[in-house]
Amino acid sequence: MTTVREIRLKSRPSGLPTHDNFELASVELPAPGPGEVQVKNLWMTVDPYMRGRMNDVKSYAPPFQLGKVMDGGAVGQVTASNDPSLKPGDLVQSGFGWREGFNAPAGAVQKLNPGALPPQAFLGAAGMPGLTAYAGLLKIAALKDGDVVFVSGAAGAVGAMVCQIAKAKGHTVIGSAGGAEKVAWLKSVGVDRVIDYKAESDLNAALAAAAPDGIDVYFDNVGGAHLEAALNNARMFARFAICGMISIYNATRPEPGPSNLAQLIGRNIRMEGFIVSHHFSMMPQYIADLTKWVAEGKISWKETVFEGIETAPDAFIGLFKGENLGKMLVKLG
Ligand code: NDP
Repeated sequence: MTTVREIRLKSRPSGLPTHDNFELASVELPAPGPGEVQVKNLWMTVDPYMRGRMNDVKSYAPPFQLGKVMDGGAVGQVTASNDPSLKPGDLVQSGFGWREGFNAPAGAVQKLNPGALPPQAFLGAAGMPGLTAYAGLLKIAALKDGDVVFVSGAAGAVGAMVCQIAKAKGHTVIGSAGGAEKVAWLKSVGVDRVIDYKAESDLNAALAAAAPDGIDVYFDNVGGAHLEAALNNARMFARFAICGMISIYNATRPEPGPSNLAQLIGRNIRMEGFIVSHHFSMMPQYIADLTKWVAEGKISWKETVFEGIETAPDAFIGLFKGENLGKMLVKLG
């Protein structure tokens, strides 16, 4: 038997989650059964979408169950195998996050060949958040030559990749993020103009100053005032990729939409929401492009790392306080 710890959802949060919503528990893992592997997790991800899964509502991902371990992306190492497809020492990616280890059918994990990348990159830049940036920018926003691109949540896991993909393709990029450290990092990777939205009293005016001729593409990670500012500063035939609206994920009552939605009409704006899972077929092309951009020194990334399974709730809550620069991760191994 191997003892592992896991985080369970103890109660459903109202507003910003607190420690009381989570509990740390221990479980005993027997030796893996026929066709199973035992995996020790090295890294797990916390992502904003998990907040929605803490509510008991039907959505594109099922709600977490009270009293049960949560799930999410993880990278781990096989420690015991009862299946010929995997052997001890193999790195695997799985959806069995929020726990130190697990037994699962071998077919429920994916073997990882990280190549030159660190394994945890497959939870961030080279994984779901990176593909979200790539698909949202190139397919949903249909980026084309000469576009001026505005990105909110620009220093986060998705936003940082959106900014750099657009820069790698030669675009003028305006990012918005909270705080001087994030602004400095975005400038260091070539973002043309960066708005520290926490230091601005008028986001609309700040965007107008940063993009005097308007924006052609808006990549929305935040919603709320950022979306309103983008609508007011959009050029004719602008495209909005609506990726996330983190500013309302902890809302305790329905939030009104943008007051200026009618700008869609006169400016001929196309606004389209998307979920990355419908675009996984783009992953091989994304990894090929990413590998090239990394080799050319055009793309880099940051990680904010919490250590130990017991810190996972703090890491998660930290997403809503802007505590991460780049991908928020929990190191378990
Ligand atoms: P991030 O790494 O960007 O982390 C969240 C960041 O959001 C924080 O660091 C903080 O940065 C910012 N933030 C938090 N609260 C607010 C607020 N009230 N107003 C403005 N900014 C806020 O997370 P991800 O990159 O993983 O996700 C970014 C967005 O993309 C989220 O909305 C997420 O739900 C969405 N997403 C959508 C997917 C899809 O398939 N559609 C897939 C993956 C992510 P700051 O300090 O700058 O405020």
